[in-house]
Amino acid sequence: MATEIWGQVRGELLETLGKNTFVTWIEPLALSSLQDGVASFDAPTTFLGNWVARNYSDQIRRILGKAGASVDRLEFSVPRSAPRPAARTPQPETRAAPPPRPSDEPDLPGAPIDQRFTFDTFVVGKPNELAHAAARRVAEGGPTSFNPLFLYGGVGLGKTHLMHAIAWELHQRQPQMRVLYLSAEQFMYRFVQALRERQIMDFKELFRSVDVLMVDDVQFIAGKDSTQEEFFHTFNALVDQNKQIVISADRAPGEIKDLEDRIKSRLQCGLVVDLHPTDYELRLGILQQKVQFYSNQYSGLTVADGVLSFLAHRITSNVRVLEGALTRLFAFASLVGREITLELAQDCLADILRTSDRRATVEEIQRKVADHYNVRLSDMIGPKRARAIARPRQMAMYLSKQLTSRSLPEIGRRFGGRDHTTIMHGVRVIEDLQKTDHQIAEDLQMLRRLLES
Ligand code: ADP
Ligand code: MG
Repeated sequence: MATEIWGQVRGELLETLGKNTFVTWIEPLALSSLQDGVASFDAPTTFLGNWVARNYSDQIRRILGKAGASVDRLEFSVPRSAPRPAARTPQPETRAAPPPRPSDEPDLPGAPIDQRFTFDTFVVGKPNELAHAAARRVAEGGPTSFNPLFLYGGVGLGKTHLMHAIAWELHQRQPQMRVLYLSAEQFMYRFVQALRERQIMDFKELFRSVDVLMVDDVQFIAGKDSTQEEFFHTFNALVDQNKQIVISADRAPGEIKDLEDRIKSRLQCGLVVDLHPTDYELRLGILQQKVQFYSNQYSGLTVADGVLSFLAHRITSNVRVLEGALTRLFAFASLVGREITLELAQDCLADILRTSDRRATVEEIQRKVADHYNVRLSDMIGPKRARAIARPRQMAMYLSKQLTSRSLPEIGRRFGGRDHTTIMHGVRVIEDLQKTDHQIAEDLQMLRRLLES
C-alpha cells in the first residue's frame, strides 16, 4: 500500500519540483510505512532526510493527502543496513587479514602545503581575528563544531595562508589524519580526468575517504555544472560523516554568481567569516614581521625609521603587494649596499606607490558619475527611483565594487544605507547592460579612465 501510493506521489512530485530537485532529493527516498498519520521514509543520509524535511515537507504532505493518505508528520531515518557513502570501511569478518588502514591508500591528490604559511607567521589584527580564531579551532582537530568553515575575502588577504596553516597544524598534531587541501580548479581538473578515464568511482571514494577537505577559491566552479554537482555530493557525504570541510572564496556564498542555490545554502550552513581589508595596524604588523625575516636573510641591512609606517600608509591594496614591495626593497638595498631609507623606498617603489595612489573612493566615484550624467550628488544617495537617476546610481555602485576594496554592505552604507542586496543587484544590472548597451559600455570606459587617472 505504501509503495503504491508513493509511486503515485513521486510522479506528481516530479512534476511540481522539476527533474533536478526530484532526482537529487526525492528519488533517493523510500516510503517505508504509513501509519497513524505518520509517513516514515528511508533516506540514504541524515543530511538528505533533514533537507527534505526542512524544504519539501509541505509539498509532500499535500500530495500525499491528495492521493488519499493524509498525514500530519513526515519522519526520515537512515536504515542501518544502508551502505554508507564512503565504502572504505574495512569489514574484518569477511576478510582474512584486514589491511592496516593508511599504508596502501593512494596518495591524496592535493596541492603541496607551503611551509611558510603557518599560524606562527600569520599576523593577527582586527580585520582577520575572527577568521584566524575559526581556523585555529579547526586546526585543533577536535569534534567539528561548525561545518563547513567558509572563509571569504578579497585577493591577498590571507585565505590561502590560513588554509595551509590549518593543514600544517593538523599534520603536526595528528599525522594519521587524512587532510586534503586543493584548489577548486584542481578539484575540477581531477573530476574531469576521472570522467575521461572512467574512474569516477575511485574519484568519489577517494574524496569521501578524507578526514578534512579544504577547497580553496571555490568561486572557480561557478557556472561549471557537472563539477558543481559532484562537489555538492562530495560535500554532503563528508558532512554526513561529520568530516570537517573548509572552503574559501573571494566573496560570500550568496554573492557567488552562477553557483547553484542548493550549494549556496549548504555553504551557509556552517560558519561564514570574512577577512576584511587590512587596516594600518595590521599592515604595519605584517611589515615588521617580514622585516625580521629579511634581516636574518640579508644581514647588515637596516631599515630607517618611518619607512615601514610610510609603506603601511601608502600600500593599502593587499598583503601580497605589500610583501612584494618589501622583497624588492631588500633586494635593491642589498645590491647597492645601502640602508633602506624613505628616499630609497620612494625611488625603488615608484610604480607601486603610484598605483596605490590611484585608488578611488566611493564618494569620489559618486561625484564623478553624478557630474557625468548631470544629476545631483544628493540624488545618487537619495531614494528617487526614476530611471534617469537610478541608472547612474547603479553605475556608481558598479564602479565602487570594481575600483574600491569596499564590501557590498560598506558600499550600501555609502549609498544612503541601502541593503547589500540592492548593491549587488545594481552591479549585476550594469554587468549585463554593458554587454548589450553600447552607450553604457562607453560611459563606463570613460568614467573608469577618469577615476583611474
Ligand atoms: P588570498 O589567498 O586571500 O588571496 P594569501 O593567503 O595568498 O591570500 O596571502 C597573500 C600573501 O600575503 C601571502 O604571502 C601571505 O603569507 C601574506 N599574508 C596575508 N595575510 C597575512 C597575515 N595576516 N600575516 C602574514 N602574512 C599574510
Ligand atoms: Mg588564495
